[in-house]
Amino acid sequence: MLPVPADPSQRYRGRFAPSPTGSLHFGSLVAAVGSHADARAHGGEWLVRMEDLDAPRTVPGAAAAILHGLAALGMTSDAPVLLQSRRGEAYSAALDRLAWAGLTYPCACSRREIADSAGRFGALANGPRERVYPGTCRNGLAPGRSARAVRCRTGDAPIAFEDAVQGTVRQCLARAVGDFVLLRADGIFAYQLAVVVDDAAQGITDVVRGADLLDSTPRQIHLQRALGVPTPRYCHLPVATDARGEKLSKQTRAAPIDLGRPADALRQALGFLGHRPPAGLNEVDALWAWATENWDRTRIPRTRTIPVA
Ligand code: GLU
Repeated sequence: MLPVPADPSQRYRGRFAPSPTGSLHFGSLVAAVGSHADARAHGGEWLVRMEDLDAPRTVPGAAAAILHGLAALGMTSDAPVLLQSRRGEAYSAALDRLAWAGLTYPCACSRREIADSAGRFGALANGPRERVYPGTCRNGLAPGRSARAVRCRTGDAPIAFEDAVQGTVRQCLARAVGDFVLLRADGIFAYQLAVVVDDAAQGITDVVRGADLLDSTPRQIHLQRALGVPTPRYCHLPVATDARGEKLSKQTRAAPIDLGRPADALRQALGFLGHRPPAGLNEVDALWAWATENWDRTRIPRTRTIPVA
């Protein structure tokens, strides 16, 4: 069954949702530029959301550095920046709704126990290969065990959606990931829950982001259906990798963008996404005017990863 599409009469609203674990690097720049260009080309709005839920991974000053970098590259949010660290009540309310619907259960299993279990490995195209949750706590905690996390029940019916770049995606959650975590053992709401609550709260119609999140989308659609919120349209951009095929990320110490040469960085990101502005456009504003006019999703390479180094 295909998801209920976002209301086509609704004005386009896109977003960029960085995790403030470091400054902008080429990998995150591509997601920012792709989402911004797509929003501007559709005459839509573009919002920035700081995914700073994971306090232990959040680097002080990184959110400000990202916003500063975006501004230097000609990208500013059309609404005040939403901070996930302030959204606990909304996530908690969503978790309650899922619990009332009988879709959640407490889980006592540690990562080690799951890794050592006889569960199959998930059939996801993007690593890491983790075992499918074997369902140990699905029918109640074993005597003497106490809850660590809260999981969401999944089913066998495949979830399918049409991605603007990657084509048809079909995933059986039970086989690919199993029942997944909504509230982590450390008390932090899981990304999958927070992103669904925030995309709905912000009225996002179009999610344009890196293809490393393609495998997460069926979990998000599952939650959207359970919560009765619309499913946005999805457009998953190729992800820049290093020579070993690892996604450029703050964790792989990708070099920060040189903000002294913003037009070069913008041109490079547009080029990565299949768009080549004419030589001679050397200003950020001129490049954005060109990109707004000439952005064409069909030029984006239809692949999940592209090595850049
Ligand atoms: N915060 C995620 C990241 O930095 C992006 C999440 C999303 O766009 O849904 O990779």
